[in-house]
Amino acid sequence: MKSELAELDQKRAMPDDEAPDSVPVPHALVPHLNETAILLDIDGTLLELMPTPREVWVPPGLSDTLNRLAQLTSGALAMVSGRSLNDIDLIFAPDVFRAVAGHGAEMRLSVGNEADDVHAPPMDKELKRRLAAIAKLSPGILLEDKGYSLALHYRLAPHAEKAIYEAVSLIRADLPTAPIEVLPGKFVCEIKHSGFTKATGVRELMKHEPFRGRRPIFIGDDVTDETVFAIMPDMNGLSFSVGRRAMGVNGHFDAPSDVRAFLARLLDPR
Ligand SMILES: [Mg+2]
Repeated sequence: MKSELAELDQKRAMPDDEAPDSVPVPHALVPHLNETAILLDIDGTLLELMPTPREVWVPPGLSDTLNRLAQLTSGALAMVSGRSLNDIDLIFAPDVFRAVAGHGAEMRLSVGNEADDVHAPPMDKELKRRLAAIAKLSPGILLEDKGYSLALHYRLAPHAEKAIYEAVSLIRADLPTAPIEVLPGKFVCEIKHSGFTKATGVRELMKHEPFRGRRPIFIGDDVTDETVFAIMPDMNGLSFSVGRRAMGVNGHFDAPSDVRAFLARLLDPR
């Protein structure tokens, strides 16, 4: 019995890209760009993860690919990120893209008119202050205030993971009615308002032109992207994961460089 359990655990622990159902993304799956909406997570999907979130960079050629895809989809290309709109703009400057940002707390439905951007109210200050104190648990924990959420990055202090989650649990137990949600990510613990997710943002985005009526393709890599993988079938959409084969996706990519190559290939159907 014990050995069977151990075997099961081993199977579960097997890296997904070694799983027998590992398949490359079939190019033929992708509909014509004039019927498609392209929705892209940024970190770990379009861009390689870096030791700290500020260190990400846009490789040569990506800006051109994204701009041409935006043109060929009549603008139906959007970033779907946990980052704020402001942060996304800094990364891609001078390019400006439509976006679901802050895990759905912010939305940009049109490019060129900031007044149309949608923002949820920021996170409660006192709550934020208490959560921010967790960064003092260990050197190497980086605090990122995203306005609508707060992220504790511990890539440089992986030993602190347990202590971070315990401290967050204590604060939540203390404030049982606070509408907050904890998002575990890759060496990051993020705390956000529970009223929105990437999926609520994508559902809203898809109601608006130029996205409405198109078939969405969503690519994401992390736990928070699973909410979007889950709703893609409702919209006749396709989803692809990066780095692992997530539940319910149509295919997966090994790394962000493969995602970028796939996007570039969409421009050249031959
Ligand atoms: Mg990501």
